[in-house]
Amino acid sequence: LPVIRLDGVTRVYSIPAGDVVALDDVSLDIMEGEFVAIMGPSGSGKSTLLNQIGSLDVPTSGDLFIDGRNTREMTDDELTDLRRDSIGYIFQKFNLIPLLTLYENVEYPLILKYGKRDESGRATELLKMVGLEGAMIEHTPTEISGGQQQRVAIARALVNDPKILLCDEPTGNLDSKTSTQIMEILADLNRRGKTVVMVTHDPATAEYANRTIVIRDGRVE
Ligand code: ADP
Ligand code: ADP
Repeated sequence: LPVIRLDGVTRVYSIPAGDVVALDDVSLDIMEGEFVAIMGPSGSGKSTLLNQIGSLDVPTSGDLFIDGRNTREMTDDELTDLRRDSIGYIFQKFNLIPLLTLYENVEYPLILKYGKRDESGRATELLKMVGLEGAMIEHTPTEISGGQQQRVAIARALVNDPKILLCDEPTGNLDSKTSTQIMEILADLNRRGKTVVMVTHDPATAEYANRTIVIRDGRVE
């Protein structure tokens, strides 16, 4: 059973100058445990595709199934739960909250979900898993390197134990040595069962995937 299925997904953005077909009739199955890289030129529809998979956005036509469920048939509350519990996001710019400590950044999704501080030790455990522990985790994001910020972002993305990790240019702001360290973490998570879907420009980063999908002008080749 595919954990992600796109069936004829088209996304048209309507702008004053006319319609932009960002995704054109894309059908795609991603099986549980796969590590998929999405590559293609700038403007080809990579981010639009990732946003569709993350159900951040509704297709103009076609259907998205997550775990066999058609997202079109889900209520807004069900979609909110799906995005929170089944999908973790990792971005090029890390998107950490600058006023919170590293620990608080990772804990934050738990507070949103449960309405109280973490009682499980999970935030600390995940930070340790990505190599951050002790007094370090009381620092704020501006006090640490880009590679460390991406480690925190990975811990945060994992805190609700999602089965899918969506990564949009996860190494785009990192030097090659740091990129390798981050990719080793993602590859390890994949080996431990996470389904990973990653947009990248970088062939060295795409090497970590089991499958590469190339998109051009909104169409999967
Ligand atoms: P990529 O991630 O490959 O650079 P995108 O998915 O961002 O490509 O964009 C695909 C196409 O859709 C481009 O032509 C882009 O200009 C257009 N596009 C993306 N987002 C929007 C939007 N919110 N409104 C209008 N056009 C958009
Ligand atoms: P629900 O009833 O909505 O499923 P529960 O409160 O029963 O949620 O908790 C489900 C799981 O989440 C349990 O394993 C519990 O230990 C854990 N949990 C509950 N509150 C928190 C919290 N604040 N931080 C982290 N984990 C929590």
